[in-house]
Amino acid sequence: MLRINIDACNGCGLCEQTCAVDAIHVVDGIAEIEQESCTGCGGCVDVCEPAALFMEGQELEEKNNALAEWSGIWIYAECRNGELAPVSLELLGEGRRLADIRETKLSAVLFTDETSNLTAQLISHGADTVYLVENPIFGNFYEDANAAVLTDLARRYKPETILAGATAIGRSFIPRVAASLRTGLTADCTCLGIQENGDLLQSRPAFGGNVMAAVLCSGTRPQMATVHPMVMKPLETDPDRKGEVVKVDVEESLFDTKIRVNNFVPLESEGVALNEADIVVAGGRGLENEEGFKLVEELAEVLGGAVAASRAAVDSGWISATRMVGQTGQTVRPRIYIACGISGAIQHTVGMQSAETIIAINRDPDAPVFDIATYGVVGDAFEVLPRLIEKLKQMKA
Ligand code: FAD
Repeated sequence: MLRINIDACNGCGLCEQTCAVDAIHVVDGIAEIEQESCTGCGGCVDVCEPAALFMEGQELEEKNNALAEWSGIWIYAECRNGELAPVSLELLGEGRRLADIRETKLSAVLFTDETSNLTAQLISHGADTVYLVENPIFGNFYEDANAAVLTDLARRYKPETILAGATAIGRSFIPRVAASLRTGLTADCTCLGIQENGDLLQSRPAFGGNVMAAVLCSGTRPQMATVHPMVMKPLETDPDRKGEVVKVDVEESLFDTKIRVNNFVPLESEGVALNEADIVVAGGRGLENEEGFKLVEELAEVLGGAVAASRAAVDSGWISATRMVGQTGQTVRPRIYIACGISGAIQHTVGMQSAETIIAINRDPDAPVFDIATYGVVGDAFEVLPRLIEKLKQMKA
């Protein structure tokens, strides 16, 4: 059906002169359409210089055609010191699941400073194709160069979806890519799904964690999301899996950077590393003070586990922020997670809910943490923890 955008119409009358069936008349400087007479030939649309006339449905069709040019799922394969970051393999596992539902290809994008066996690793973990860009600049992380190269590749190969880790690296440069491509980005996703038409369902905590929002970006491509590390599961490695490696040449100027790295200082971490620990003992505001928090450290020591904390404990200054678990902190997936005096706010649980076994100790029987706990102890941490520590010490003796 012929439609008019009256704000754009300049009343020139060309449409009126062109119409063979006398279905358009300019009245008070605006073209008016007689729908009963219009045959929908589109002749007036062709002559309308300000593009005020259009056929309804045509715009939508053009948009759908433009979206259909984008296909396949990409993951950004993050590397640190020549090794793939664990989140890259997790993204491949999730990307494989989504690509199979969508019956499309899964590709990994790898930026590296040397030919390495990383491409084989990516293929054995689920990638059909690896787009490889090699340049000495990728020996370090430069967000402007990474953003420029990924933007260029996305424009050339048109993936429907790009996933990256919600790590310090992903968080720093992926928004630049989304802005350059004029598309949306959902940060810190904890769950992904895909619809039949390829629309990506991107779930993440919103409004201070009080709701889980499912975000859609149906009007533009590519769809872009960063995903929390340790939330998705990697696939078992399959050394017989076959895939294609595409070496991509990019314009030299894209490697230009405004950043100069003077020095790298490794983060000092005390005790067992959180993301590698089999057992994690976490303490929250319920421990009341630094002295109370020591019970958590003691239990972790007896169990050979790592110490973690809620934001409340970190904000109270009882432990370093590097030990915080949750939305703003780290995500962990240990075999056992013991939450002591932690209420179970969503911002905390998104960081530990994938633990195999969750044991919660809380004196409030209605604390939300019990909703996700495998075992719950309703009791005072100051009574339960010393007895537990004592018992474990006796068992070890
Ligand atoms: P509280 O919620 O105060 O809970 C203390 C619990 O201890 C209560 O359930 C109480 O019943 C129990 N208790 C008290 N005394 C005892 C006792 N003697 N024995 C046993 N139990 C006892 N939080 C995080 O942890 N990680 C994050 O990454 C994070 N990111 C955030 C991001 C945003 C944008 C926002 C808005 C918040 C974020 N938070 C985060 C904060 C989060 O919302 C909660 O405020 C925080 O997790 C609460 O910490 P808590 O459970 O230790 O304290």
